Amino acid sequence: MIYFVGAGPGDPDLITIKGRKALEEADIIIYAGSLVSPDHLAYAKKDCEIYNSAKMHLDEVLDVMVKGHEDGKMIVRLHTGDPSIYGAIQEQIDPLEKLGIPCTVIPGVSSFVAAAAAIKREFTLPDVSQTVILTRVKGRTDVPESENLESLAAHGASMALFLSVGHMDRVIDSLIKGYGRDDVPVAVVYRASWKDEKKIFGTLKTIGQKVQDEKIIKQAQILVGDFIHTEYGLSKLYDKYFTTEYRKGLKS
Ligand code: SAH
Repeated sequence: MIYFVGAGPGDPDLITIKGRKALEEADIIIYAGSLVSPDHLAYAKKDCEIYNSAKMHLDEVLDVMVKGHEDGKMIVRLHTGDPSIYGAIQEQIDPLEKLGIPCTVIPGVSSFVAAAAAIKREFTLPDVSQTVILTRVKGRTDVPESENLESLAAHGASMALFLSVGHMDRVIDSLIKGYGRDDVPVAVVYRASWKDEKKIFGTLKTIGQKVQDEKIIKQAQILVGDFIHTEYGLSKLYDKYFTTEYRKGLKS
């Protein structure tokens, strides 16, 4: 069995209990060394074989998995955050399943929620936004034209941008056009949950210079939207007049 495990955003304690148990039982661990903390490896068995996939290409990773499986080994492929988001897991799972090798995915805490936690904000504030858009700008990987940043920003929803802090000028330009204003709040969170985490607040107008001053060019979330302000309506969920499955509302 091959377990694709979400390691969480950085802090090794932000892996799930199920993920940690899989690490403790693994005979082989292949971890994404560029963004996964090596502290996770302290939980591996003494004789566990460990590979850093940052130094390997896809065929090499698959070879280790296929050979390991043939030898009856338990294999963990440790990905940063949650594996379903920019995790490049499909290109691993599909060939393995074609060979009849069973795979399981154990989800993880994605960096977009770790970034929201770092700034203690809620993406889905009543009267502000009830939608979160997760996206990125085009880098070496293309983004479908129908998902260009300007048109996504036109919804005025809360947004979290992955893999984009190295292209701030382009990001800011598209977001200002899409939101139609330059006073939209932005928080850039560098290495959320790591010891060297940094949080920078601004607006679409001011954030570019601040990010440049801090020399942040990678490993950051760009959170955008009015949810970063704190003026909002209270939620229905805890409203005393609101009946839920668990609680009868008071008569107003
Ligand atoms: N699967 C991962 C994302 C991998 S893509 C997840 O769910 O988080 C890599 C991008 O994720 C980085 O370029 C950065 O934008 C973001 N990222 C990963 N870890 C981060 C962290 N600790 N803090 C801020 N952004 C992070």
